[in-house]
Amino acid sequence: MTVFRSVDFSGHEQVVHVCDPATGLRAIIAVHSTALGPAIGGCRIRAYADETEALTDVLRLSRGMSLKAAVAGVPFGGGKMVVMADPRRDKTPALLRAVGVAVARLGGRYVTGEDLGTTVADMAEIGAATDHVLGLPESLGGSGDPSPRTALGCFVGIAASVRHRLGKSDLKGVRVAVQGLGNVGWNLSRLLAEAGAELIVSDVREELVQEAVHVFRARPADPQAIHAVEADVFSPCALGAAINDITLPELRVSVVAGAANNQLADEVRHDAMLRERGILYAPDYVINGGGMIQLALERIGLDRAEAERRVRAIGETLSGIYELADEAGIPTAAAARNVAQERLTSARARAA
Ligand code: NAD
Repeated sequence: MTVFRSVDFSGHEQVVHVCDPATGLRAIIAVHSTALGPAIGGCRIRAYADETEALTDVLRLSRGMSLKAAVAGVPFGGGKMVVMADPRRDKTPALLRAVGVAVARLGGRYVTGEDLGTTVADMAEIGAATDHVLGLPESLGGSGDPSPRTALGCFVGIAASVRHRLGKSDLKGVRVAVQGLGNVGWNLSRLLAEAGAELIVSDVREELVQEAVHVFRARPADPQAIHAVEADVFSPCALGAAINDITLPELRVSVVAGAANNQLADEVRHDAMLRERGILYAPDYVINGGGMIQLALERIGLDRAEAERRVRAIGETLSGIYELADEAGIPTAAAARNVAQERLTSARARAA
C-alpha cells in the first residue's frame, strides 16, 4: 500500500519510514499536523501483521491526536510513531535508543510519549537519545504516568454528561457500568465510588473484578455482557470498537462515556445511531484527553495545579460540544470533529 493512496491518509504533513539494521528497528512516524504546534503522540510498539497494518494504525492515530489536541485547546499538533516489533520479545534498551535517535532527527516537529507496548521507564531510555520525549518518570523531572489524569478527565466528563442528559448535578446513586479495570478504569472507578455512584464492573482479569467488588462495593458483570446491563452510563475503558453493530442495539443506558480510544467501530454511522437511540455519546478523544493535557503542559512547563485545572475543564468542553450538537441537530462526535477541524483550518490559514 502506498501512503498517498491509503484511505486513512488525510493530508498528513510528513510520513517517515525508519530502519536501523543494527537494532532491528523498523518504524513509521506520522506527523499529521503542526498547525497548532509540535506534533505530539505516543510511540506504540506492536507485532503488526505487516507494514500495511502499521501504516493504517499510524495514519489514523496521528490524525486522532491532531483532533484531540485541537479540541483540548493545547498548543500542539498530532503525530504518532509505530514500531513493528513484539514488545515482550524485541524491546531492548538499544531498540529504544534507536527510537530516540529517529525522533531526534525530526528536530522537535514530533514529540513522543508512552502508548501501548511502552512504559514510563521506556521513555527514560528513549530520552537518552532525544529531548523530544514526554511522560518521563517523576524522578527525572517528568510528570510520570498519565493514567490518573485521564481518569480524572473521564470522571468530570461523566459528570457533565449526566448533567446534560439526566439533569442531575451530582453522581450520587448514578449507575455506571465500567468495562475494563486497568490503569484508567481502576482510577476512574475510585473517583466514581467516592462520588457515590453505583458501580457495575467487568474485566477479563477476574482478580481485578473481585478487588473492585471488595474495595468499591461494585457489582460484577460478565465481560461479554457489561455493555448490555441496565445502568445510566456505560463507560468503555478497555479496547476500541466497544460500540459496534452487535453491542449498540443492546445498550440499556442514557450515556456512553469512557476512556477507550476509537470506541465507535464506525465513527460516523454509530455516532448517528447513538443519537437516534437517544443515547448521549461523549466523544472519546475529548473525554480521554486528560493524560495528553498533562503531557502537553509538562512540555510547556506549567505546574501540576494548572494541569489539573485544565483537565477538569474537559467537563465544560464536553458541555459546549453537547450544546453545539443540540443546536445543529447533529450527533456529538460530528460536533466535536467540527470544533477541532475549525481550529486546525484557522491555524493553517494564519500560518499561510
Ligand atoms: P490497561 O491496559 O491498563 O487496561 C485495560 C483493561 O481492560 C485491562 O485490565 C484488561 O484486562 C481489560 N480488558 C481487556 N479486554 C477486556 C474486555 N473484553 N472486557 C473487559 N475488560 C477487558 O489500559 P489503560 O491505560 O487503562 O487504558 C484503557 C483504555 O483507555 C485504552 O483503550 C487506552 O487506549 C485508552 N486511553 C488510555 C489513556 C491513558 O492515559 N492510559 C489515555 C487515553 C486513552
